[in-house]
Amino acid sequence: MGGPGDAMPIPFTDSPDSERLRRALVDEIAGRVDDPRVVAAMRAVPRHLFVDAPLATAYGDHPLPIGHDQTISQPTIVAVMSGALDLDGSERVLEIGTGSGYQAAVLARLAREVFSIELVPSLAVLARRRLDELGFTNVRVRVGDGYLGWPDAAPFGRIIVTAAPTTLPPALLDQLADGGVLVAPVGAQGGNQRLLRLRRKGALVSTEDLGPVVFVPMLHGRDAPA
Ligand code: SAH
Repeated sequence: MGGPGDAMPIPFTDSPDSERLRRALVDEIAGRVDDPRVVAAMRAVPRHLFVDAPLATAYGDHPLPIGHDQTISQPTIVAVMSGALDLDGSERVLEIGTGSGYQAAVLARLAREVFSIELVPSLAVLARRRLDELGFTNVRVRVGDGYLGWPDAAPFGRIIVTAAPTTLPPALLDQLADGGVLVAPVGAQGGNQRLLRLRRKGALVSTEDLGPVVFVPMLHGRDAPA
């Protein structure tokens, strides 16, 4: 325990300022995603309640620290990854790396159910609390090692990985349903990370490269920050 926001009470009312800043941010991003449902979800989810930062910082288009050497992704990346999952509202989604819970909240508005795994217990606890207070009842958060996936809830129609493994964890591919889509940053820290989209058709898996990205590394359980 001991992240910067752990002891903070979480306000859950929007203000005219937070609404205005969020609208401006999402208007800026809207041109880069074609999926109107993603844009609507990002307009709805109060990003400033997922970070411990001044409003104007919370609504800048950049990543932000969330404690434990981890970051909440840049809003544009959240939009691009959410769009790449191609969600229609019927899906069960597995997320690796709950972090602040922000991406999970956006997914919760786009899919039927979200299963999110976080390695660092105190981040998971804080994310759970925020999601509860904001009424996201279709998100389940579990403390665990994302390399193993969530076997007892598999298969998943969609899987999103929000920390970068150097190679794709085989368990996640195993847990991807037929017809399913997986989006993940893959590559070494400080190296050439690419955002990949994989689609499963029976035993066949096709891979698309969606471009370069920069993510925190996906850690192995033994390397987890305290
Ligand atoms: N999606 C998050 C941001 C993720 S940052 C958000 O919206 O805020 C990456 C997160 O992945 C961090 O919280 C980190 O602790 C977590 N993580 C790293 N390795 C992991 C692993 N093996 N299993 C699960 N979570 C992991």
